[in-house]
Amino acid sequence: MDVYFSDARASVKKPEEWYQPHLSPVKKLEKLIEESGVLDFVDKGDIIAVKTHFGDRGTTRTLRSVFIRKIVEAVKDRGGKPFVTETTGLGMTKDRSTAVGRLLIAEENGYTSQTVGAPIIIADGMLGLDCVTVDINGVHLKKVHVAKAIAECDGVVCATHFKLHMQAGIGGSIKNVGVGCVAKPSKFDIHCPEKPVINEKCDGCGRCTEICPINAISCHVAGDTGNRTIYTIDRNKCIGCTGCYEVCRKRAIDVEWLTGREISERIAECALGVVRVVGKDNFGFINFAMDITPHCDCRPYSDMPAFPDIGIFASRDIVAVDKACIDALLKARPNPGALVDDFWEWTEPMAQIEHAEKLGIGISNYTLEIVE
Ligand code: SF4
Ligand code: SF4
Repeated sequence: MDVYFSDARASVKKPEEWYQPHLSPVKKLEKLIEESGVLDFVDKGDIIAVKTHFGDRGTTRTLRSVFIRKIVEAVKDRGGKPFVTETTGLGMTKDRSTAVGRLLIAEENGYTSQTVGAPIIIADGMLGLDCVTVDINGVHLKKVHVAKAIAECDGVVCATHFKLHMQAGIGGSIKNVGVGCVAKPSKFDIHCPEKPVINEKCDGCGRCTEICPINAISCHVAGDTGNRTIYTIDRNKCIGCTGCYEVCRKRAIDVEWLTGREISERIAECALGVVRVVGKDNFGFINFAMDITPHCDCRPYSDMPAFPDIGIFASRDIVAVDKACIDALLKARPNPGALVDDFWEWTEPMAQIEHAEKLGIGISNYTLEIVE
């Protein structure tokens, strides 16, 4: 599988030759899109999702809107009808957990229909519960809940800010699809193996019942004299929004949070679900290995980049494009003082690649084509 690459460096050697617009990464992106054929799947009239990450309030190193605009223009040039999209975050109380909050944060961070050149639509609806469910029969997950607007569009261009990730090793295209294109119930399944349980610390305040969007929490009278109330979660009904966990002040709701390799494998399985629904041939992947922070854009801040800017990678293969980025990072020297010591050891950055390849959604073996 081919992965096309454009270097982020300008490398102007003579000071008098400083005015060279073609050295801009935005211009390079234009050329990369042309030469790679990454958008060749777009047909006239197709509704195309341009999936990116808007960051949280305070995140400062997300993908610049000018790159997204360039991709939007390229989709339009091919006759497609693009919209720029993102999904809500896990939980119910943070701004990023609803479509309204997500859009407000997007605006603050510089993503508006004016800056990106297309409508912005939150793909999983107001509360992050609008989805199409698909069976996958994976090692960890049996079903994936694909964000409805993603499931209903004709194709997806992943405009991915490639960075490190403190739990999943890397945040590349596999994560942009596996986490970013699914609704809240699948985001829960990525992070947690079991639905929440209410423990004995519960004091019966009832806050959790008010936030639960599907009335999965009920109150029973208990005790020999009927003088006690017990709150329980119907785990068959619960969709794992974690709203109750967020509002409980007594730490009376137990949620088991996964760590390590299993999270990465669950992300890959969610990506499989999205690929099944949209169709493997209806994707293009563009990874921007620039501002490579040591953590994901869902943090409400951006640490200093862990590596110098590398460049832009484009491919029709979700696994190859991420593998090419990892290989480039392994050859690069981390920035002095960056948070990468032992990082590769404990986060297993290859886990997503290996599991995604096993699931058949892409190939890690690739040829790197340099676009000058
Ligand atoms: S919010 Fe916590 S303490 Fe209050 S009823 Fe629910 S589980 Fe019990
Ligand atoms: S019981 Fe389930 S659906 Fe209801 S608030 Fe808690 S996590 Fe969300």
